Amino acid sequence: MGLASDHACGARSTCAGDASGRGEFVNAALEVQALRKHFGGSEIIRGLSLDVRDGERHAVIGPNGAGKSTLFHLISGLLKPTAGSVRLHGREIAGLAPHEINRQGLSRSFQITTIFPRMTVFENLRISAMARHGSRYGLLRFASRQSAVNADAEQLLELVRLVPLRDKLAGNLTYSEQRALEIGMALGPGGDVILLDEPTAGMSNDESLYIVDLVRRVTQGKTLLVIEHDMEVVFRLADRISVLVYGQIIATDAPEAIRANAQVQEAYLGEEIE
Ligand code: ADP
Ligand code: MG
Repeated sequence: MGLASDHACGARSTCAGDASGRGEFVNAALEVQALRKHFGGSEIIRGLSLDVRDGERHAVIGPNGAGKSTLFHLISGLLKPTAGSVRLHGREIAGLAPHEINRQGLSRSFQITTIFPRMTVFENLRISAMARHGSRYGLLRFASRQSAVNADAEQLLELVRLVPLRDKLAGNLTYSEQRALEIGMALGPGGDVILLDEPTAGMSNDESLYIVDLVRRVTQGKTLLVIEHDMEVVFRLADRISVLVYGQIIATDAPEAIRANAQVQEAYLGEEIE
């Protein structure tokens, strides 16, 4: 593995060391530098760099097969990079296991729904909330851990507005309700950087608007990195947009500037914007 060494500060970030000597980014919640991923002979992520500011809602758009989901797998630890660096609040996380990255404050959802269909809505949220209370509660009695987990699950239930569906089997929810549940589950571990992969995929206009409203609400005060194919959703949701084409970010800017960007238009020439 050609992973970059654990520098305290990235070259392109404002950086302030603290008393412990641990570097901290003033602005970057997430910083990806020169990231590469090969699958056999083909390079899918080709020296990709991306900065996500603390507290912003940042969308990644790009054609099908550009490498968007692969990028999320690399950031969240599901895949290990071939080379490059990923820093979360200034700490190197490239190559760590998903649960370690999760523990450092990054949560994610998947492009394909990953709820437990034979469990109730509440039980699904309980399972995701357990991650927040893992070993830290090791010395407390079982009962107090249980009640902390239950309290978190109740809070999540209210946050994603699924209280009336509390005891329904997740498999019996509508598609958009399942996505709402899944977003709730992504929040369960308590991370402050949230990655959502196409939260409105396969939805009608009304369903999309419901999810956009939900995502806006639940990510208040957090940092959001979202892959999104629906341009209306992107423009409603994102403070900044990065365009991923053929394994590289070719532009990052505010929505209006991205819309007007000639390079972006050229990359999409003859292709529907995803
Ligand atoms: P996007 O999410 O932008 O549509 P993906 O990241 O899913 O694109 O895929 C990018 C490319 O990487 C595609 O050509 C896909 O076939 C390839 N790819 C993704 N995962 C693997 C894998 N595990 N092994 C081999 N090729 C893969
Ligand atoms: Mg994808």
